[in-house]
Amino acid sequence: MSCDRNRHVDAVLPPDPLRSAIRSALLERGWPDMCVPQALGRFLTQLAMGAHSALEVGTYAGYSAICIARGLRPGARLVTLESRAEHAHLAKRHIEGAGFGDRVEIALGDAAETLGRLKAEGRRFDLAFVDADKPSYPRYLDLVLDILHPGGLIVFDNAFGRDRVFDPSATSPTPAALRELHRKLFENPRLVSTLLPMFDGVAIARVAT
Ligand code: SAM
Repeated sequence: MSCDRNRHVDAVLPPDPLRSAIRSALLERGWPDMCVPQALGRFLTQLAMGAHSALEVGTYAGYSAICIARGLRPGARLVTLESRAEHAHLAKRHIEGAGFGDRVEIALGDAAETLGRLKAEGRRFDLAFVDADKPSYPRYLDLVLDILHPGGLIVFDNAFGRDRVFDPSATSPTPAALRELHRKLFENPRLVSTLLPMFDGVAIARVAT
């Protein structure tokens, strides 16, 4: 059934030539296509439409950053965090090519360190999208909550870890961290959280005002 659903969504979504161009650029380099699917990109665009400031953890080739930037109101900015220089370099090219160079800042370095620096600088955000190393997700939740405005939204991609989360015999760092993330999301009294069984699982939490 989910194959039919995906096929239908792919058939009705207007094509995104930028998604195809980024995919080709990745294939040329022999890099995997780890970008969000187009439908999830559009969801990020929708979420970004209400944001004054957005944060992303995990830039890769820049596709989800572009989707967020597409939704931002004039004057709003996105800071996207990436640890690998070659990924940041390719993302910069795609983001500038899409016309969003003035509203997206790529911060190169380990995300946990960058999040600490952003906090120290007093930077605050009202939307965060987390799509990086899965074993760090519980830590990213804590670090991002420190710099989200009251009422802010945090979104985690791959919250099911390719379904390993449901397999009790899977105890490696990724499924273990994702289970911990789920626990933290629903235990924290400051959060109204949900876990959506779409794509590879999308976890969303709104910080109480
Ligand atoms: N969000 C991107 C998109 O949909 O277009 C895809 C992101 S890809 C799944 C994950 C990215 O996170 C990779 O580029 C990887 O280098 C980066 N990453 C992994 N660990 C990181 C860390 N500790 N700090 C910052 N970036 C990290």
